[in-house]
Amino acid sequence: MAGPMRVKQGTAVSPGIAIGEVVLLGRDELRAPRRSIARGEVDAELRRFDRAVAQATREVDEEIQRFDSRVQIPHQVLESHRDMIRDPALRAAVERIVRSEHLSSESALSQVMEGFYRRFEEMESKYISERAQDIREIEQRLLSVLLGKRPRDVHHLAHQAVVVAHSLTPGETAAFNREKVLGFAIDVGGRTSHTAILARALQIPAVVGLDNFSDGLTGGETVVVDGYTGLVIVNPDRKTLDQYRSKTVTYQSYHQVLVKEIRLPAETVDGYELVIAANIELPEEIHTVVEWGAAGIGLYRTEFLFEGKTLDEEKHYRAYRNAQRLLRDRFLVIRTMDLGADKSLQEGREEEPNPFLGCRSIRLSLEQPEVFKAQVRAVYRISRLGDVRMMLPMISNLDELRTAKSMIRQVKEDLVRRGEDFEPNMKIGIMAEVPSVALMADQFAAEVDFFSIGTNDLVQYALAVDRVNERVGHLYQPANPAVLRLIKMVIEAGHRNRIDVSCCGEMVSEPLYAVLFMGLGLRSFSVSPLAIPTLKRAIRQTTMREAAGIAATCLKFDTAQESLEFLGKRLEKLLPKL
Ligand code: PEP
Ligand code: MG
Repeated sequence: MAGPMRVKQGTAVSPGIAIGEVVLLGRDELRAPRRSIARGEVDAELRRFDRAVAQATREVDEEIQRFDSRVQIPHQVLESHRDMIRDPALRAAVERIVRSEHLSSESALSQVMEGFYRRFEEMESKYISERAQDIREIEQRLLSVLLGKRPRDVHHLAHQAVVVAHSLTPGETAAFNREKVLGFAIDVGGRTSHTAILARALQIPAVVGLDNFSDGLTGGETVVVDGYTGLVIVNPDRKTLDQYRSKTVTYQSYHQVLVKEIRLPAETVDGYELVIAANIELPEEIHTVVEWGAAGIGLYRTEFLFEGKTLDEEKHYRAYRNAQRLLRDRFLVIRTMDLGADKSLQEGREEEPNPFLGCRSIRLSLEQPEVFKAQVRAVYRISRLGDVRMMLPMISNLDELRTAKSMIRQVKEDLVRRGEDFEPNMKIGIMAEVPSVALMADQFAAEVDFFSIGTNDLVQYALAVDRVNERVGHLYQPANPAVLRLIKMVIEAGHRNRIDVSCCGEMVSEPLYAVLFMGLGLRSFSVSPLAIPTLKRAIRQTTMREAAGIAATCLKFDTAQESLEFLGKRLEKLLPKL
């Protein structure tokens, strides 16, 4: 008999609803016993380690092959694991311990990996700390070879099921038969964990960050995974099950409609064609961007390519080049680093009393010109490969912009001296995300090629509300009339000065606001990849005339609440109520 219904809240990382039976993947975590070896065995032990590296590499290669033939999604994750497995620095660290402490290679490996793991885990950045999971996965891979243990069998799911596990390696996630896996519910991880990224790429509903959820299960229970809200429900009662079944039917038919419309233009009923691009943080997302028919990448957040404050120009160059190749003739807007405050990656950084008002983003770039110039150089080096543009974040006054542009000029002069091929007229734009830019938008427009409105920050700076502080979350009001007025100023100044204006803030991922922005005159959007189809549909169902009417009405309201109520009613017909 089924036990009582249990509901657990996790982080929704891949949309969709899965209802099915739990297949539980046990933790079977391998541990290396501390084993000493004789002095004379050192060389043989290191040869054994090298053989294990070779075998683990072969296994990853096989996974890459399998992965590729089934679905066109990125295999960079597995390639990066393969690189880490073969990393000479790892080999050297293991060798040092085997030679000096006379330990077996698996004991040495665990010691080395534990050190890496701790360092990663302590990093402030969520993205970096989630990479700690990769370290564990690589350790487990090598241990399974060294200890002769077979990995968990994920290839042979007998029937369709929801996979529940404490953690999943990227290889495991990729190896599942897509037809058999209904959804994932995983204890560890966050939005940027690789399981999350791969689940999104495979379009399998997934919830992660469920703590020790898997511990309480035996397998065989009925479970609902809600990849929209992050809820996971074990042993749902009849009423809950019925509700979710009908939700699933609605979503599925809606999804089919969206898929059919992927290649259609983002054109209003009265013939205005708009541009929908995508925001990405990780290269792995580019495939979804292309698949969902985006016109390009309107915001490539580059913070994740930084290690602390330091920058490896070649790594940036390779990442940008790769992105441009995958995009082919679509445009690519690379934003220079926006570190600090919510995107803090800096180890040992001085604590600032008000990080959002402190030395973040472009301010940090100007404080360390050599790092900034190296990033700018990497962007210029790919500028001839396609339609590449560069964007400066967090600009708050004209001096700052001019200083940044003079550094950019120096980079171009250096590149000329070095005889490098680059596009001297590459477009340079700024994020309009500080109210001072909106208020002085005409002056800024005269000195840049485009604006991209960053509502995530614009809302926080206009209303003095910390964007990550839940306590004041109710004051974070994108529909506040003060915010709408600032947005209007930016759009209109852009038009007056004949420069492109786009918006890459989360706000326009919601059709509700996107239509409002259309009415304010915006013709270009950049949204999270999975929001593209819904946004396109909303655009295709509306007229510019309607949008203009909606914007004019909202501008007359005194409060955000009035705008929201009005928008909700007007846009109900655009999208099904779920
Ligand atoms: C914004 O501020 O709206 C934006 C798109 O940038 P980020 O969220 O990266 O600060
Ligand atoms: Mg911002």
